[in-house]
Amino acid sequence: MIRRFIRRVLGLDEAVPARVPRARHGIARERISPAARKVCEVLAAHGYAAYIVGGAVRDLLLGIAPKDFDVATDARPEQVKPLFRRALLIGRRFRLVHVIVGGETVEVSTFRGIANGDAQGDDDGLVRDEHGRVLRDNVFGTQEEDARRRDFTVNALYYDPATEEVVDSHGGLADLKKRVLRMIGDPEARYREDPVRMLRAVRLAAKLGLTIDPATRAPIRRLAPLLEHVPAARLFEEMLKLLLSGHASACLRQLRDEGLSHGLLPLLDVILEQPLGERFVTLALAQTDERVQTGRPVSPAFLFAALLWHQVLAAWRARERAGLRPIPALAAAMDEVLDTQCEKLAIPRRFTATMREIWAMQPRFEQRTGSRPLRLLEAPRFRMGYDFLALRAASGEVPAELENWWRAFQSADAETRRAMLAPAPAPAKRRRRRRRARKAAAAPAPAP
Ligand code: ATP
Ligand code: MG
Repeated sequence: MIRRFIRRVLGLDEAVPARVPRARHGIARERISPAARKVCEVLAAHGYAAYIVGGAVRDLLLGIAPKDFDVATDARPEQVKPLFRRALLIGRRFRLVHVIVGGETVEVSTFRGIANGDAQGDDDGLVRDEHGRVLRDNVFGTQEEDARRRDFTVNALYYDPATEEVVDSHGGLADLKKRVLRMIGDPEARYREDPVRMLRAVRLAAKLGLTIDPATRAPIRRLAPLLEHVPAARLFEEMLKLLLSGHASACLRQLRDEGLSHGLLPLLDVILEQPLGERFVTLALAQTDERVQTGRPVSPAFLFAALLWHQVLAAWRARERAGLRPIPALAAAMDEVLDTQCEKLAIPRRFTATMREIWAMQPRFEQRTGSRPLRLLEAPRFRMGYDFLALRAASGEVPAELENWWRAFQSADAETRRAMLAPAPAPAKRRRRRRRARKAAAAPAPAP
C-alpha cells in the first residue's frame, strides 16, 4: 500500500509490474468470449490462477476483435483436464489442454518457467541446438516467469476476468499506447532461442501497425540466417499466418526491408524477386488481403498456387522448348516447382493437391470448342480455376477476352452456351459420324 503510494507520488507507476484496474485499461469483462470466461471461472473456483493472455488481450486493447482467446494458469495440464467435460491434452512443442465450451475451443496452457531461477542464456535449463535454438521448453513456472518467456511486451499482458485487472510486468500497456513492438529481455538472445520470433516481429508490426523498437529490430538482419535451422513445418505455419493476416503485402515488404527474404525461403525469393510475375503476385496478395479484411474465406492452396505460378510457367515453357508436349510439360513443371518448395517449406499435401488441380486446369481454359468447356464447368475446382484465370487476365498474361468469355459462359443458359461454342475441329471421319448422329437426333421421332 505504502510502496504503491510512494511510486505514484514519484510517478514510477508506468514502469513497475502492476495490476492495472479496468478504469485505466478499459477492457470490459463482456468483451471476453463466454467460453474463455467460463474456463477462467472454473479454474479459479478450484483455487487456481487463470488469466486471458497473449494476442487476445493485446487485440482488445487495440480495438481489434481477437481471433481466439488463450488462457494461462498455474494448474498443470493433468489438473486442468478433469475439471471440464470436453477437454483434450494436446501439444507437440508444449503440452496444452484444449477445452471445448459451447462449440468454442479455448487453449489452456500452464505457466512456463525458467529452470534455473533468473538465468537466461546458457544455464537456464532449456534444451538447445548448436545455434542456441530452444528445442524443449516444458518447464513449468510462475506467472511472472511465464511473462518473461513470452516474446513481446504487448504479448505479455494478463487479463483477470474475475477482477477485470490487467497484470502488466513488462510495460506492455505503455508500449501499446506508444504503438511500439518491443522484445522482452535481450533481443539477440531471444531470437537465438527461437528464430521464428523474427518473422513474428515483422508480422505483428505490419498487422497491428506498430513500429519495431530499434533495439528489437537491430539484430534481425544479422541473425536472419538462423531461420535456416527452423523445421520446415514450423516455417510453413508461420508463413501461412503471415500470408493470411490480411496484411500480406505490407508484411512481405517489411520482410524484404529487414533482410529476411533473401536466400532463406525459396518461396519468399520467388514472391519478392520474380521479374515476370511481379504484377501477378502483387494482385494475388492485394486480393487476398482484401478478402481477409472483409471477412471472406481465403484458400491457402489458391494463394500458394498464385505465388508459385510464374515459376511453374517458366519451367513449363522450358520443358516445351525441350520437346515435351504441353500437358506432360506442365505436369513435369509442377513436380519440379513443388519439389523445390517442399524441401524448405513443407507445403502440406492437402494444399499441393489443390494447387496442382488449379494449375492443370489452366490450359483447358484455352479450349473453347466442342464439349470440352462444358466438361470443364463440371470440374470440382472449376471456381478456383476460373478465379485463377481471372488473375492471369488482370495481370495481362492472357487476353481479357478469354476471361470475359468464361465469365459469360458460366452464367449463360444452355442455348446461349451452345451458340458460344465453336464446332470442334474434329478429324473428317469423326465429323461425318457426328453429323449423321445429329441428323438422326433432329429427325422427327418415329410414330409409336
Ligand atoms: P495472433 O493474433 O496471430 O494469434 P498471437 O500473439 O496471439 O498473435 P499466437 O501464436 O497465438 O500469437 O501466440 C499466443 C501468445 O503466445 C503470444 O501472444 C505470445 O505471448 C506467446 N508466443 C507465441 N509464440 C511465441 C514465441 N515464438 N516466443 C515466445 N512467446 C510466444
Ligand atoms: Mg493468438
